[in-house]
Amino acid sequence: MVKRVVIAGGGAGGVTAALTLAEAIKNYKIGDLEVVLINRDEWHYMPPLWMDVALEGLPIEETRAPIRGLEAFGIKVIINNIVEFDLDNREVVLSDGQRVGYDYLIISLGSRNGWDSYEGLDRVGYHNYDPQSAVQLNRVIRGLTDQKIVVLVPELPFRCPIYPLEFASVLGYRIRARGYNPRITVLSPVSRKGEDLTGLFGPEIKEIWDRYLTAYGVEVKTHKGLESVDVDKKIVVTKDYEEPFDILIKTPPPRLPGPLRSEAFVHPEDKRFTKVTPGTLKHPDYDDVFIVGEHALPPIGLGMAGAFVRAAAYKAATIILTDEEGVGEIYRITSIACVAHVANKGFTAICEIKFDGNKYQRTGCYSVMESSLAKMLKRAFYKGWLDRIKV
Ligand SMILES: Cc1cc2nc3c(=O)[nH]c(=O)nc-3n(C[C@H](O)[C@H](O)[C@H](O)COP(=O)(O)OP(=O)(O)OC[C@H]3O[C@@H](n4cnc5c(N)ncnc54)[C@H](O)[C@@H]3O)c2cc1C
Repeated sequence: MVKRVVIAGGGAGGVTAALTLAEAIKNYKIGDLEVVLINRDEWHYMPPLWMDVALEGLPIEETRAPIRGLEAFGIKVIINNIVEFDLDNREVVLSDGQRVGYDYLIISLGSRNGWDSYEGLDRVGYHNYDPQSAVQLNRVIRGLTDQKIVVLVPELPFRCPIYPLEFASVLGYRIRARGYNPRITVLSPVSRKGEDLTGLFGPEIKEIWDRYLTAYGVEVKTHKGLESVDVDKKIVVTKDYEEPFDILIKTPPPRLPGPLRSEAFVHPEDKRFTKVTPGTLKHPDYDDVFIVGEHALPPIGLGMAGAFVRAAAYKAATIILTDEEGVGEIYRITSIACVAHVANKGFTAICEIKFDGNKYQRTGCYSVMESSLAKMLKRAFYKGWLDRIKV
């Protein structure tokens, strides 16, 4: 009997899991496994490229690939909105009432931008956490001169922890290169260890951020929590001070996507995230359900970034292949690599990861390249990823 793996979400996690399974089905000639991916729109987006939309005017079309491109790999694609997971009956419920049955379910739905979580935050400011907003931000950036620019991070964790520092350093470099002297301040929540965003990945990475942010006039200020944004007075009100701005650039507080807001999924200690068993990435009560999206990762010690999501999705796919088909071996998450933009260059970072049975822990992060080549590498990786699906 053919078993069906249904993948909910066609973003970083969903596409990684789908392609891993599809390649194994082809390479190992597996005849009794089918892959169905459900995504709410016709595009697979690569969100890191929205930064290039905002900063460089990259067309939106270059940040996405048609999700139906996955059909060339033997993956069945359904474009529809998931409204509910009926875990007891092993069915995914779609907005038109259709129910898609599964033997295994892999969930990777990203996160909802919680702009409405703080007073005023939804009414002022620019961002690039969706493609249209990135285009709007690009128009604003083109006119920036000597303004006071505040890059606001309301809370930790959030989607892509390196992003505000990348953005602020590139912005500082670009505006200065045009002969202006903007005042750029990143408002960073203070971490449990008392650090700002520059320190989240250890001393070696902090040294790189500090060097470039100082060179391009970017100040990083910690705050003990956001209270509100005063839209009329143009002031960010935090628990410990008020910060005025001319231009506000904001990152979203992460909130759960609709279908994951039920009791079956919400993490008991932090309702911004889903529960998951760290070692297997399975739902604690349902052995056939894997939860790998960024909504699942912070409580188990992994970051809200595509690099972590891809590792989690790959692991889930290899568990299905070994358990179900006896092929390959289960992927162990032991390191994560990422590439960051910084001013006019880029750097690569590797984080070593240890799993202590309960949680993943970063044991050290270091950079292996700081160069304009790293910047090109970042763009090439995303472009190559999308081209594979376009073909
Ligand atoms: C500006 C920006 C820069 C970033 N830079 C980096 C970076 O440099 N490095 C890095 O590692 N990460 C980066 N990230 C983060 C990275 O993009 C995310 O962590 C990653 O995409 C999360 O993967 P996911 O599969 O959980 O969600 P997503 O990739 O967001 O995919 C979720 C998918 O599910 C679909 N979906 C959602 N709800 C439903 C529903 N109800 N029904 C059907 N489909 C649904 C969506 O349409 C989407 O296709 C960045 C993000 C942004 C916004």
